[in-house]
Amino acid sequence: MAVAPKPEILAAFEAAKGFMPLGEGLALYEAALDAGRLGLPLLEVGTYCGRSAILLGAAAREAGVVALTLDHHRGSEEQQPGWEYHDPETVDPELGVMDTLPTFRRTLYRAGLEEHVVALVGRSPQIAKVWGTPLGLVFVDGGHTDEHANADYEGWAPHVAEGGLLVIHDVFPEPEDEFTGQAPYRIYLRALGSGAFTEVSATDSLRVLRRTRAGIREQG
Ligand code: SAH
Ligand code: MG
Repeated sequence: MAVAPKPEILAAFEAAKGFMPLGEGLALYEAALDAGRLGLPLLEVGTYCGRSAILLGAAAREAGVVALTLDHHRGSEEQQPGWEYHDPETVDPELGVMDTLPTFRRTLYRAGLEEHVVALVGRSPQIAKVWGTPLGLVFVDGGHTDEHANADYEGWAPHVAEGGLLVIHDVFPEPEDEFTGQAPYRIYLRALGSGAFTEVSATDSLRVLRRTRAGIREQG
């Protein structure tokens, strides 16, 4: 049985800027509640303005764990000025470069979740490199180039505890459906091919995989 977030959480989610449709968001929330039973932190790669982080934070609060959300807050390639997903409101007027951190902090404050979400500000591979704690859930929603998606997979999938979940956004198996490339689809295939992850559910472009084995193999 699916458990829905509280109405005030749904309202905060709907009001937040970002790239997470409601249906996929509900699937993410459900996965986060499931993973929260392990009693380990939940981690998101790709905060942007905090839209999906609201759902992870709400699930973490329910489960009594912490949600971590990671971003350098300078935006992905397709969010830069002149590109399709650019939002001029995300530009720091003093520096003239993107900075989504202030919007994220407002979003989190308004959702009443500051105590349940920790922001990690920096590049995903740099943070992954110094990471040592097993995670109940890793949600990969960062950069969409192969370089970034592969680094997110390689950096974070090993930290998913056995029984925990690896969730990947923007998985488009059909090239004609994709809007920012198929790199997330390729890491989804890597995860399945590794022998360590088994698919739990698919909701539009959101895939939920469970870590069922310790060893992560590489395909040749
Ligand atoms: N989860 C968000 C959307 C994330 S958009 C939502 O619900 O709306 C992708 C984000 O990934 C961008 O904010 C971008 O700055 C970040 N990002 C891209 N590559 C990154 C990297 N290598 N390290 C850290 N953050 C990265
Ligand atoms: Mg996404």
